[in-house]
Amino acid sequence: MERAFVYVIVGGGVAAGYAAHEFVKRGVSHGELCIISEESVAPYERPALSKGFLLPEDPARLPSFHCCVGSNEEKLTPKWYKEHGIELILNTQVKSADVKSKMLLIATGETISYKILIVATGARPLKLEETGVRGSDAANVCYLRDLADAEKLVNVMQSSSGGNAIVLGGGYIGMECAASLAINKLKVTMVLPRAHCMARLFTPKIASYYEEFYKSKGVKFVKGTVLTSFDFNTEGKVTAANLSDGSKLPADMVVIGIGIHPNTSLFEGQLTLEKGGIKVNYRMQSSNTSVYAVGDVAAFPVKFFGETRRRLEHVDSARKTARHAVAAIMEPKKTGEFDYLPFFYSKIFTLSWQFYGENIGEVFHFGDFSGKTFGAYWIHNGHLVGSFLEGGTKEQYEAIAQATRLKPAIEDLTELERQGLGFALSVSQKPPPSQPIIGGGSGRVPDKKPIYAWRATAGVILAASIAAFAYWYSRTESGENFVFDSIARLRI
Ligand SMILES: Cc1cc2nc3c(=O)[nH]c(=O)nc-3n(C[C@H](O)[C@H](O)[C@H](O)COP(=O)(O)OP(=O)(O)OC[C@H]3O[C@@H](n4cnc5c(N)ncnc54)[C@H](O)[C@@H]3O)c2cc1C
Repeated sequence: MERAFVYVIVGGGVAAGYAAHEFVKRGVSHGELCIISEESVAPYERPALSKGFLLPEDPARLPSFHCCVGSNEEKLTPKWYKEHGIELILNTQVKSADVKSKMLLIATGETISYKILIVATGARPLKLEETGVRGSDAANVCYLRDLADAEKLVNVMQSSSGGNAIVLGGGYIGMECAASLAINKLKVTMVLPRAHCMARLFTPKIASYYEEFYKSKGVKFVKGTVLTSFDFNTEGKVTAANLSDGSKLPADMVVIGIGIHPNTSLFEGQLTLEKGGIKVNYRMQSSNTSVYAVGDVAAFPVKFFGETRRRLEHVDSARKTARHAVAAIMEPKKTGEFDYLPFFYSKIFTLSWQFYGENIGEVFHFGDFSGKTFGAYWIHNGHLVGSFLEGGTKEQYEAIAQATRLKPAIEDLTELERQGLGFALSVSQKPPPSQPIIGGGSGRVPDKKPIYAWRATAGVILAASIAAFAYWYSRTESGENFVFDSIARLRI
């Protein structure tokens, strides 16, 4: 059987959910849009799986975290898709794609044709076997990418209560799972290949804060070593992990978070690939004009990075690339070039951090690393290009985002370090400059000094801003520590 749609989305994750929402906002007609997903549920906010979903008490469960609640927008339940005439084909893998004939073959044997295809296939976890170690299929070895993984993790965690959990990898998944395992009262050891956690983003000083916090919750760290093999019992369950430093760790369960691969295989040899993903332009359009790619699988030009193409494995970029692609498809003349400020966040234990921009150049830390609020700025070629903040309020996070987007020139580094968060607040409160700080809208650090070059020693305006901030801060400091209202509420 063959079915035909105007628009088809392959993949039913975060990007698919936000794309569907955008299609409806822009007036897609009933029967025009189809989503094909190998998952058994409608698109949901994937970050919830390593946060609220793993809580021992009152855990988050669907339908509470369907897209687009993570952006404080309506919740798209299966009923919503039905009401809007969107065909949601679940539990069904797309087996092959032929972009020349605009045809997909799905697992049921049906073919689906499209006029425009959006690829939102995300990524899959890097398996142990790809590193030469056997054991992925063991009943007490867990990955975490989709709902089925999360359900297995919860079951294994509950049946290993009070036992030893080993977490391999110190990135997002490793850190968030380790926190959840500790909250669930397992004895957690994190095995990190590098010298510290979150090595791709955190400085040693920032990492040390989180590691100390984790240690205070009973989590142990083994660093600079990797797994070489597992010991198994007669039932095939893992009982211990053998590490490259010669040590052996007893294990009742293992969680693996060692990286991901973008799901590009359907399109290899048909679309141009870059950075491991599908190469797209500012409209999210691939080398075939009828095919767009969004989310983790898309390698798109990031103006902020001077137009270099990047593949960002983060929920914010999944949401925004999806919305932009749909805008470019439905209203091409009204849709400009995608201009994205990279944004990453995480929530662990009672902590939460946000990062904006790029972590290159020199780093300047600020704030109280023995307290609750601290951060760092990254300065590259004399301009602020990246900002990190732990324990901020909504307004403080907005300020570091805004300051980073402006890429102000920094002339006095000592003063920047001294002002800390006050710097971002001052910059973000200033009226926009008469000419863009970011040269030609490209996001590149300008060659010439910008007309509005921020002097960290600036006088009157800064003093007024800091006074305003001090007043405002004194009012908010005692308030709840939140990232986005909705995210905190829904624990995603
Ligand atoms: C546990 C977890 C926690 C996270 N926490 C954070 C966080 O705190 N902050 C942050 O910024 N980011 C976080 N992320 C990353 C974020 O969730 C991803 O960047 C985001 O989900 C990417 O969206 P996507 O739609 O591109 O891919 P996905 O959400 O992965 O969706 C891809 C979909 O495509 C489907 N699919 C793939 N191939 C096929 C096929 N051939 N046929 C049919 N369907 C197919 C998959 O089954 C899946 O449903 C987290 C990720 C995970 C796994």
